[in-house]
Amino acid sequence: MPDPSDEPPVWATDRFHLCETVPNCKLFGGGAYTKNGFAYAFLYAASASPRDYLDGSVIIARAPGGMKPEAGSTEMSIAEDQSENFVTRGLRHTMKARTPVVLITKNNNKLMTAGMPHEYCVLGHYKPTHIWWEKHKPISGKSDPKDGLRYRLERLNPYEEKAWFQPKGTEEIFPPGWFDPPIVASCCSCRGTFQQKYLQGWICVNKDCRAYWKLPAPSGQLQPLDITSLIYDPRFLKQKTTWPEERSLFFPLEYRPMEVTEDTRGEDFYSRAGWNGLVCPNCRGCIMRMSFLGWDCETPGCNYQVRVPLDKPMSASAITDSGPAFPLTDGYTPSQDVVYSDTIRVCKQICDDNFRMARYNLPIPGPDCYVVHKISNATINKAPGGPNDMFKQLQCTDIGLRRRRIGSEKRKEPKYTRHLFVNVGYDYNFVASGSEKSVPFAKVKAEAVRDVRTRLNWSTAQLIARALGRPFEEVREWYKRQEFNECLILSYFQDQAIGFHDDGEPGLGPNIATISLGDTGIMLFRMKKTRYSGVSKAGIYDWEYPPIPGCFKYKERLAQHDTIVRNAPTKNKQEYWKEAAKKLGLNKYFETPPVVLKIMLRHGDEAVMLGALLQKYYDHSVSHVGRIRFALTCRYIDPTQPREDGKPKGIPEPDMRLYDGSQLPLPRDRFGNPIRSGWEWEADEDFNGYQEFEGYNEEELRQMAEDDEDEGEDDAGLDGGDDEDF
Ligand SMILES: [Zn+2]
Ligand SMILES: [Zn+2]
Repeated sequence: MPDPSDEPPVWATDRFHLCETVPNCKLFGGGAYTKNGFAYAFLYAASASPRDYLDGSVIIARAPGGMKPEAGSTEMSIAEDQSENFVTRGLRHTMKARTPVVLITKNNNKLMTAGMPHEYCVLGHYKPTHIWWEKHKPISGKSDPKDGLRYRLERLNPYEEKAWFQPKGTEEIFPPGWFDPPIVASCCSCRGTFQQKYLQGWICVNKDCRAYWKLPAPSGQLQPLDITSLIYDPRFLKQKTTWPEERSLFFPLEYRPMEVTEDTRGEDFYSRAGWNGLVCPNCRGCIMRMSFLGWDCETPGCNYQVRVPLDKPMSASAITDSGPAFPLTDGYTPSQDVVYSDTIRVCKQICDDNFRMARYNLPIPGPDCYVVHKISNATINKAPGGPNDMFKQLQCTDIGLRRRRIGSEKRKEPKYTRHLFVNVGYDYNFVASGSEKSVPFAKVKAEAVRDVRTRLNWSTAQLIARALGRPFEEVREWYKRQEFNECLILSYFQDQAIGFHDDGEPGLGPNIATISLGDTGIMLFRMKKTRYSGVSKAGIYDWEYPPIPGCFKYKERLAQHDTIVRNAPTKNKQEYWKEAAKKLGLNKYFETPPVVLKIMLRHGDEAVMLGALLQKYYDHSVSHVGRIRFALTCRYIDPTQPREDGKPKGIPEPDMRLYDGSQLPLPRDRFGNPIRSGWEWEADEDFNGYQEFEGYNEEELRQMAEDDEDEGEDDAGLDGGDDEDF
């Protein structure tokens, strides 16, 4: 195939790079991007259907939707009548508003007459000029022609320049406007006025009209137009559409690169604009903000990079705090947690070592499973080496925070996490590919990371001691054997969040502790879908885990669970489980389990999850308000457990440091006496038994809707969408 005449204005190696770099082009899943009723971008790829057309100025494409692959082929054919969906409506609005759309081609586009130099190339801005109904040959096996929608788009080209993708050394033979203007006529039946689209003759393209898609036969009778030999009328195809002041319609294909000036503050680079992609000024490739340090062009040989200033950290006083009614003091900070469900047993809060500690017991059988929220105060945060210092250090040090690929490296179309992260300590297979090693605690550049591990070890041993009612010194001795040997550090910029997930990977210890630094995080807990509904996605009864209070049909399931499991046959188990689920009427897998607990994690707060089964029964998500939040999560990885990928394991580094949070001065009452409550947890007295979840009341729903709005885009939402291109 010949080379194109020129280089594309912007190109990318994968969708993610493209979608984060070209404005209004979030084609993460589908073939079209619409927002607020407007269509903004289309991906033009893969299979072509009959009468698809492309040259240097004009593109005729079918609307997305209703397509299926032909048996044994990748060729897509229309399987159902299309209907006017949001994409077509969006394009109509765009067309009426005289706003251009961006067209992108994938390098498997069969209509391109020049070889595409990259996986994804931006063709340019286009004017949508016509949308009309057409009869299509249906997919093999179906006889009736199907209704489909067609788009005609004309390249926005006010200076009449050659398209970059025109084959090298060639000219466009008939530029727009070369022929006579198209023939326009009105339909006798519906009075609609249309241009003649096909050489076969003028037809009505109003799908609801009696005369739709029909030509008068010599007898005078209306006959359906034969779809096998349609040819576009060149007067229609190559007409020139002029929009008012086209020279004014200049839209950059890239976000304006962030400039670093004397006024630049580090926190600017945590804003939404701070993690848009950039177009490389040297090679025109898309560059994602992959690293905490900035942008690095990944094109081999191109070393273009943009660095963010690491010497201008956001100060702890600039943190966006959701609790302005409770400014931090040296007293015990009030809680803002919300318990939505009666199934969560709340313990009496303990105030000690400057932390207000709230304990939430989850209704899981067996050893206690609970979440403790340790609410920090000003004394803790401002102490030397405390959360304020840690927050600063994490912003000013290169500790290797990066976005990384999700899933297998062999996957053709890579996906990336939104947040940045790095693993420190015991070498667990933290990246699916296992190609990256975690950083030993001894080598991580920020002291804060080592400090966090020691602090969280102290916190967790303390909590276990309190739970057992044993002296701390005694518990610390044996806790040492399961102390945290790994730390996962995550950073979330503005609008980045993590969707519902659990932290229970194989080979992890039962306790997981997190410290939150920076803007306030909102941590939500809900039952896992299978535990809540009692069935897997495939409809298999959840036989491994007994039902717990708060799940769907709790009483019925509880009454029958043991019998169902005991009577399971040795053969045809799947059928048996499915039948059991059906009999119980467990049909809510696709219903979202209710949120049972909300924890407001302010700067310096810790959340400790205790009990192995907690991760089997509950998921959690975290979003945040403001610009930047770090979460440092410590876990114990059992060195005797084999790695999932079979690779050699690392050497655990014991925590040789000491931390004692009880050394800080305690809050005092007005007479100067230190304030602290008792050592052991006590159950809150008013507990009226486990209630069946009866749905939220209006106030709760409203509150949760507000929380959702803050949540932004989450990782879990990225997987949806078929790869349907038009
Ligand atoms: Zn008509
Ligand atoms: Zn470059």
